[in-house]
Order: sequence, then structure tokens, then C-alpha cells
Amino acid sequence: MFIENELKRLTGNVRVYLDMDGTIVHYDVNNPDNYDIKRPLIDRINKIKYLIKTYDNITFYILSIGNKDVHIDQKNKWLDMYLPLIPKENRVILIRNIGSQLSSATIKKNYINNLNTDDTIVLIDDDPRVLGALAKDNSNNAILYKDSILSD
Ligand SMILES: [Mg+2]
Repeated sequence: MFIENELKRLTGNVRVYLDMDGTIVHYDVNNPDNYDIKRPLIDRINKIKYLIKTYDNITFYILSIGNKDVHIDQKNKWLDMYLPLIPKENRVILIRNIGSQLSSATIKKNYINNLNTDDTIVLIDDDPRVLGALAKDNSNNAILYKDSILSD
């Protein structure tokens, strides 16, 4: 498992921040808001469950952005169903208000850069804008992976 080979090289406490849409949830272009019917990417979720159970030093978090307050509830319900091993306190679901000047990439970059921890930070995201923003400005030296790290 490629992700396991990457993560097991890291010593000390590791926090892995997981994006949702496009990373562990199928991104449905025609139905971006309807979380009730969003398809879980089961092979990826099974890898994450295995890693949670196998490595005591690795903690998984969710780092996701929604456009409406109702998305917080919807995403939590989805996680309760498909990935309850990530507890509520480790789910960071931020709301980007319509009309906000901040892009999702900036919001995630700021969140990661403002973490105050000695843990190694890993981010897995499908959006190149998020990864690119952090690659340019990465004050916590987060290790950045495209979602495809979860394949093979
Ligand atoms: Mg995404």
C-alpha cells in the first residue's frame, strides 16, 4: 500500500488531514450539494480504516469546506455512516460564505499554517489549488499529497 509506505517512514506523532469531496467521496459534478446520495470511495476508506487501526502514532482528521451551514450536518452524517473511526472532534468542516474574498485554497492554507503543534502534518487533497497554495506558503512544513496517494 503506497500511502502506508509513505506514512510509516514518519516518526513521532503524525496528523493526516483528509479532504472529503474528490478524496474520500465521489465528486458528483451534477449534484455537488446532495450529501445523502454521495458515493463513498470504499477502497480509499478501507485503507484509512486500516491505517487508523494499525498505527498508534497516526491520527486522521477531516479538513473540508462547505458553502452552507447545512453542509456541516450533512458531512457529519456522511462521516458517521462511512468513516466513524474519525471522531467528531477531529472533523474540521469550515464554511466558506458565498461572496467571501477568501478562496477555499486560502482557507485551507491558513488553517494548516495556523496549527500550533509539533506533530508532523500531512494533507491529502484532490484540489491542485489547495496543494499549490500550501506549496508556496507552508510555514508548518506540511507534507502534501494529491488524493491519488490513496491508490495502490
Ligand atoms: Mg476536494
